Amino acid sequence: MGRTYPTLLDLVGGTPIVRLDRFGRDVPPQLLAKLELLNPGGSNKDRIGLAMIEAAEREGKLRPGGTIVEPTSGNTGVGLAIAAAQKGYRCIFVMPDKMSQEKISTLRAYGAEVVITPTAVDHDSPESYYSVSDRLAEEIPGGFKPDQYSNAANPEAHYRSTGPEIWEQTDGGEIDAIVISVGTGGTISGVGRYFKERKPEVLIVGADPEGSVYTEDAEHPTHPYLVEGIGKDTWPETMDAAVVDEWVRVSDRDSFLTARRLAREEGLLVGGSCGSTAWAALQVAGRMGPGARVLMLLPDGGRSYLSKFYDDNWMIQYGFMERSAPVPTVDEVL
Ligand code: PMP
Repeated sequence: MGRTYPTLLDLVGGTPIVRLDRFGRDVPPQLLAKLELLNPGGSNKDRIGLAMIEAAEREGKLRPGGTIVEPTSGNTGVGLAIAAAQKGYRCIFVMPDKMSQEKISTLRAYGAEVVITPTAVDHDSPESYYSVSDRLAEEIPGGFKPDQYSNAANPEAHYRSTGPEIWEQTDGGEIDAIVISVGTGGTISGVGRYFKERKPEVLIVGADPEGSVYTEDAEHPTHPYLVEGIGKDTWPETMDAAVVDEWVRVSDRDSFLTARRLAREEGLLVGGSCGSTAWAALQVAGRMGPGARVLMLLPDGGRSYLSKFYDDNWMIQYGFMERSAPVPTVDEVL
C-alpha cells in the first residue's frame, strides 16, 4: 500500500531542490533552486503558520475557539489558514490595498475574513495594516496576533526545518552561496543562523526590493514598490542582520522580467519575489568560478500574479516592457 499522511500539515516542508541549467547558462556556477512554492499552501509561509500557532498554544496565548488576527500579504495568511482549518480557529487577515485580488480571494476561499487598508500611509498611522490588526486583536475576545514580524517562532521554524533540509540536500552544505529574498527576515535569519553555526564560509545573500529599508542609504531612500511579500519600511525584530554577508538591491523591473524568464526558460511559474531572488543570484554567480554552486529559495508560485506582471499590458502600463511590433494574429494567418 502507498504511503498516506495524517493531515495536510504533515506535508509542509521537505521541498525539493532543482538545477536551473537553462536559466543559468550565462554564468559559470551551477544554479540551484529550492522550490518552497511546492508547499501545500503554495509558499515558504506554510512552515511558520503551524509553528506560530503551536507556540501560542503552548504559551496559553491561543485557546480553543480563539481568533487569529494577522497583518499579512497573503502567504502567511494561507499558512495560518491551513493550520487554523485543521485546528478550528477563526482567522481575520489585514492586508494593504496593493495586494492582488487573487490573494484576497484565496484567503476568503479558506473561510478567512479579509480587511483591506491603504498602502501609502505611515507605519504608525491608525489606518496602517499594523495598527488595524492590533486593534482587532485587542478588541475581539480570544483574539491572538501571531505577528510574524516579531514572533521568534518564525525564524526558529526555518532554523529547525529549512536550514537542515538544505544541509542534507546539498551533502552537508556543499554550496558556496544561498540567496534569499527578505520580508520578515524569518527565512534568511533561520537558514543563515543554521549555516553560520556549521559552515560560516557559505555566503548568505539577501535580496531586497529597491525602496525597502534593508538596503536604504542616502541615494536610495525608502519608497513604495510593486513587488509583493518582501522588503520593509522599518527593521522587524525577526530580522537578524548579523547572518547576512551581502545585500543585493533589486528593482521591480528586474524582479518581474526575471520571474517571467523563469516561467519561459525553466517552466517554473513563480512569484515576483522569486524574480528578485533569481536576479540577485545571477549577480552573485557572475563573480564566481565554474566549480561554484549557488542556491536560491523560490518562495511562491505565479498563479497569484497572472493579472499583474504576467500580463503584458500591465508590464507596458508600468513601463517595464515596450509594446512590441505587431505580429500577425492567428486569425490573420488562418
Ligand atoms: N516572498 C514572498 C512572496 C513572501 O510572501 C515572503 C514572506 N512575506 C517572502 C518572500 C520573504 O520571506 P520572509 O518573511 O521569511 O523574509
